[in-house]
Amino acid sequence: MANYDVVIVGGGVTGLSAAYHLMKRGRRAVVLEQHTVANPLGASGDHARVFRLTYGKDTFYTDLGVRTLALWKELQKDTREELYLPTGMLDVAMSAGNYEEQSYQALKGMGLPVFKWTSQETHERYRIFNPRGFKFSVFHPDGGMLWGQRTLTALTHLSQSRGSRVIENTRVTAVLRNKKDGVYGVRDSSGRTWQAGAYLFAPGAWTKDLLAAYGLPIKTTRQELLYLRPPNNQGRYRPAHCPIFGAFSSGFYGFPVHIHGFMKMGDHRKGKPGKPGAGSPEVSPRFEKSCRAFLKKLIPDLAGFSETEGKVCHYDNSPDGDFILDRLPDSPNTWVAAGLSGHGFKFAPLIGKTMADLIVDGKTDLNLQRFRLSRFKLRVK
Ligand SMILES: Cc1cc2nc3c(=O)[nH]c(=O)nc-3n(C[C@H](O)[C@H](O)[C@H](O)COP(=O)(O)OP(=O)(O)OC[C@H]3O[C@@H](n4cnc5c(N)ncnc54)[C@H](O)[C@@H]3O)c2cc1C
Repeated sequence: MANYDVVIVGGGVTGLSAAYHLMKRGRRAVVLEQHTVANPLGASGDHARVFRLTYGKDTFYTDLGVRTLALWKELQKDTREELYLPTGMLDVAMSAGNYEEQSYQALKGMGLPVFKWTSQETHERYRIFNPRGFKFSVFHPDGGMLWGQRTLTALTHLSQSRGSRVIENTRVTAVLRNKKDGVYGVRDSSGRTWQAGAYLFAPGAWTKDLLAAYGLPIKTTRQELLYLRPPNNQGRYRPAHCPIFGAFSSGFYGFPVHIHGFMKMGDHRKGKPGKPGAGSPEVSPRFEKSCRAFLKKLIPDLAGFSETEGKVCHYDNSPDGDFILDRLPDSPNTWVAAGLSGHGFKFAPLIGKTMADLIVDGKTDLNLQRFRLSRFKLRVK
C-alpha cells in the first residue's frame, strides 16, 4: 500500500478541501469516498451553492466569510476555472426585517460593501422583483454563486496532482480503535485496512452513524430543492439581471438561471428528520406549492413555472448550528469536520485549511471556540 500522511473519510467538499490544503502543505492524503465524487446523495454534489456574508448580527460568520472569500479566489487561481460567480446577494425583508437590518449594520460596521434599498429602488435595479411584495432589501455585491460539482472536480485534480489520491466506491465500515492510541485505522467494506499518521472524518450526514462510538449530537434533516424554468423572458433571470435572493423570514432563497435554462429554489428552514438514501427522492407537491406562493409575492412572473426538476439532500445539523471542527476525544491524531448544519459549502476552503493546519501543526489561527466538541456532553464508548 502506498504511504499516505492522512486518511480522509468522505469525498465531499470538506474532505476534498482538506486534501487540497494538505497538498499545499506538502502532505499526501488518501480520500476514501463510498460513492463517486459529486454524488447526488452527498450535500456537496449539486450544481451550485450560495456564497453570502449576511448572517444577521452574527459577525463571527461574516468574518469567516471574508476570510474564506480570499481562499476561494486563491483556489480559482490554482485551478484556472470559475468557481465563484459574484452575482451579488439580495436579502429581502418580507416582514419586520430585523435580520436584514442587522445584516446591513454588521456589514457596514465591518466596512464591507453593502446597500439598503427601498422596495422601489430594488425594483428599479432589478425589474423582476415586485415592489409591493416586500418592505426593503439589503444587497451585498460579494454574495454570489459557487459552482458545486465543478469545485469538487477541481479539488480532486489539484490534490491528485501532487501524490494524494481520491478513491471512489470505497465505503469505510469500521473505525479501528484501541485504548492506547484511540483511532489507528479504518476498514472498508472489502476488508481492506487503511492506516496513516493522521485521520480526518468528513462524512457529512453519515457522521453520526460512522462515529457512533462518540455519540455526536448531529441530527440529519431532509431538504428539498426545486429546479424551475422561467415560463417566459428567460434572459431576465440570468445572473446579470437576477442576483441570488433570499427572504430570511420565510426561509426561501433562489438562484438565477444557471444550468440548462433552470433556476433553483430552496428553503433553509430545517426539514423533517431523514437520512441519505432513505425515503423518497422526490420533492413533495407541498414544497412546489410553497415555492409558488413565495414567488407570487416576490417575483409574480415566475410563479407560473411549469417545467421543474426536484432534488433532495440532507443537512447534518449540530444542536446550535455551529460546525464541529475538532480532535476526537480519545485520539491524538484524529479529527472530525462535520455538523455543517446546511451552511458549510461557502466556508469549505477555510474549513479545509483549518483542518490541514490542525493536522500538520496541531494549531490554527482560527478561533475554534464555537466549533469544539467540549460544548457537548459526549459519552465515548
Ligand atoms: C439542500 C441543501 C442546500 C444547501 N445550500 C447551501 C448553500 O447555499 N450554501 C452553503 O454554504 N451551504 C449549503 N448547504 C450545505 C453544504 O452543501 C454542506 O454543508 C456541505 O456540502 C457539506 O459538505 P461535506 O463534505 O461535509 O458533506 P458531503 O458533501 O455530504 O460529503 C460527505 C461525503 O462522505 C461520504 N461518506 C459518508 N460516509 C462514508 C463512509 N463510511 N465511507 C466513505 N465515504 C463516506 C459521502 O458519500 C459523501 O460524499 C446546503 C446543503 C443542502 C443539503
